[in-house]
Amino acid sequence: MSALPSHLELVQGVVLPKPIGADPVLDFLNTRSDFDGSGPARSEWLTSYEAFVIWNGYVGLLPAASVFRLIEQAAVKPTDATRRLDAAREFRADLYDVLTNPGATGSFDAVARAIERATGRRRLVAVPASGLGLRASWDLPEDLGLPLDQLALLASELLTGSSRDHIRRCPGCTWLFLDPRGRRRWCSMATCGNRAKVRAHAARTR
Ligand SMILES: [Zn+2]
Repeated sequence: MSALPSHLELVQGVVLPKPIGADPVLDFLNTRSDFDGSGPARSEWLTSYEAFVIWNGYVGLLPAASVFRLIEQAAVKPTDATRRLDAAREFRADLYDVLTNPGATGSFDAVARAIERATGRRRLVAVPASGLGLRASWDLPEDLGLPLDQLALLASELLTGSSRDHIRRCPGCTWLFLDPRGRRRWCSMATCGNRAKVRAHAARTR
């Protein structure tokens, strides 16, 4: 068996891109890489609802027990799971459009409605405080909609917060990442950075 490229990892039987975005929402967008016809080797990593849930566990958005239970739920309701995967992919495409295209008003509406739906499903629950009394925590129901709703809520924080202005796109592919210090050029040196170095070297020695 050939080794995986360095930007990919085999997780619970699913090949997934390693997180490079410095933000889970950007890494979600980077689970697809051919938004404009180029990208690192493969175009779609969310090949099933199960792969989507395993990706959420891999990047730390869902605990292992939730990943397990959601995969069980998806096996019981395969049609519903497929519908949720389609919705997640649509949200991903719309959000990518919003972040990269100033004319993306239609996509913005779709993203906004998805965020509002997720916001409506939140409940404020009590959890013990580390010192006195109780603190509050936003909670989403653990059903097949949980992974997308959670990403939609994180996307709302990204879109409204100060990180929004630090999102950059790799000039070698379509991946997005945060670059708060303005020093980063490539998604990763191991893929696009290295390809550019090889091209520059070939041009110098020609
Ligand atoms: Zn790249």
